[in-house]
Amino acid sequence: MRKLLLGIKREQRFWLSGGLMWLIVACRSSSPPPLPSSPPPVSIPADRPAFSADSAYAHIVQQLKFGMRIPGTPAHKKTGDWLVATLQRYGARVHQQVGTYKGTPIRNIIASFGPEGGKRILLSAHWDSRPYADRESQNAQAPVPGANDGASGVAVLLELARLMAQKPLPYPVDIIFWDAEDLGREGVEDSYCLGSQYWLTAPQPYPPRAYAWGIHLDMVGGRNATFFQEGYSRKHAPFLVERLWAVADQLGYKRYFPPLPAEPIVDDPFYLSERGGIPMVNIIQRDPTGAGFFPEWHTTRDDLSVIDKATLQAVGEVLVAFLYGASPEVVVPH
Ligand SMILES: [Zn+2]
Repeated sequence: MRKLLLGIKREQRFWLSGGLMWLIVACRSSSPPPLPSSPPPVSIPADRPAFSADSAYAHIVQQLKFGMRIPGTPAHKKTGDWLVATLQRYGARVHQQVGTYKGTPIRNIIASFGPEGGKRILLSAHWDSRPYADRESQNAQAPVPGANDGASGVAVLLELARLMAQKPLPYPVDIIFWDAEDLGREGVEDSYCLGSQYWLTAPQPYPPRAYAWGIHLDMVGGRNATFFQEGYSRKHAPFLVERLWAVADQLGYKRYFPPLPAEPIVDDPFYLSERGGIPMVNIIQRDPTGAGFFPEWHTTRDDLSVIDKATLQAVGEVLVAFLYGASPEVVVPH
């Protein structure tokens, strides 16, 4: 069953009917426990720092200015250098995991914040952009600008890094920007998410067992985005899903974070959870009609015009409220 699941790329998987998908998941393991319909209140600290969507938006603009972030290209290198410099400016201890995986050059960027020692929290996004707009028949070989698919998650985490520089979190946090997430080809097993797969197999500054849990962001800047509870997140980290969506509800962002399940997808968190044993939540836009991710996904139209600062603000505020009220020990049930 694993082969069947992994042999289908993530968009194909999404196009499968929900019933079939859940049947596949149900065959692999017992179903995740149902989440309560009314999650308990979560304490949100009043003295948390203020997330700025303007700042996050500027980070998207800057990434697109570099050009297409396709591994092996000059624009990709410039972007990587800028990410490292920006994270260092915010006080991070930056490691780079550089190598080759399945013939693709990989540059994972790992930025550590806070104290050493104790369980760590992993926050991640992918920083590469897709070389082919294969959801667009006219321009199938043209590259995707990746404003939402890639740059938005990086931008929200860079803004969080700025806030952590102002008001450090009291526990160890690593922001990891995965490379080579979006080179996948239809029908080619494990061809997406090369950076996170590489991370699992190469020496890391902190191994997977160092992490208590993690949150991954992808496509978090689209207009009227809806972040349903992705299936693998519910399976591996139901305690995180429950609390994150409860925080969103308390902040008045239920419209963006409806407490409803969505089909599982193979994305970076899939590898981190299934192969690395890290409970991960994937915050990723899903189309409520079940037709895909966002309308401009994997097209040349995934540019600044799809980005809405209100969505960035909602995701950023939820993340900040959650993290400043959390700790590795409190969130994970022991
Ligand atoms: Zn993509």
